Amino acid sequence: MEREAVVRLMVFAGVLAVMAMAEQLWPRRARALRRVQRWPSNLGLVLAGTVLVRLVAPASVVSLALLAEAHGWGVLRLLPVPTAMAWVASVVFLDLAVYGQHVLMHRVSWLWRLHRVHHADVDVDATTGVRFHPVEYLLSLGLKGAAVIVLGAPAGAVVLFEVLLNATSLFNHANLRLPPAADRVVRLLVVTPDMHRVHHSIDRDEADSNYGFNLPWWDRLFGTYRPEPRQPHETMPLGVSRFRSAQDQRLGQLLLQPFRKDSGLEAHRAEPGTPNERRT
Ligand SMILES: [Zn+2]
Repeated sequence: MEREAVVRLMVFAGVLAVMAMAEQLWPRRARALRRVQRWPSNLGLVLAGTVLVRLVAPASVVSLALLAEAHGWGVLRLLPVPTAMAWVASVVFLDLAVYGQHVLMHRVSWLWRLHRVHHADVDVDATTGVRFHPVEYLLSLGLKGAAVIVLGAPAGAVVLFEVLLNATSLFNHANLRLPPAADRVVRLLVVTPDMHRVHHSIDRDEADSNYGFNLPWWDRLFGTYRPEPRQPHETMPLGVSRFRSAQDQRLGQLLLQPFRKDSGLEAHRAEPGTPNERRT
């Protein structure tokens, strides 16, 4: 369990460093705010989420997988599936569960309030990939834990899934310009930054598309896929119209944002966005 935490932290730090360098070399967009106005908050949220999960959750997802293994629980154990197949099926079905959760976060008003913290980032870069309200981290843990027990996912596959999901989230949020030909090929296998940026549009109909974090197939399968945004990637406004100031990006504001008085879903209606202020 200790090793799992170390491996996850190392992969996170490594992928974040590589993405930050790549963003510096091949940026897709000019930033609206300076990094110092966003990064401490985004990284503060992931830290707060990790602490909350450790304090509140009685067990990690991996320990639930070990529990299911010890008791022989789970659909995959009822079927004569070879180990390699069980690993692949676990990763694929856990990814489907996360897709389903993401759709719900957009459809249910109080869940949207929590998830809106992620969407209210006015720039989207690698750190946006881990910018979630601590309560959303806790909810995800509950959902993944339930999925792991129902599936009977092998503990190793769960670790692999968590590491993959974290790495692909950092990648697909990156402010990164991939050559168009590469983007076309990569997005057949994994969600690319251009594909996911559509999901961060200020316009509701675009934000309610491309829910995938890891595998791009669920959006195509369930009709939520949008290949391109209406406006060019370089200028399309990102974020949530109500929370666009530098002040709104402070850690304290982000922690309180879901509990502010307003009508959750309504605050994210399709409004024409204000163009991003440019800063080089
Ligand atoms: Zn979303």
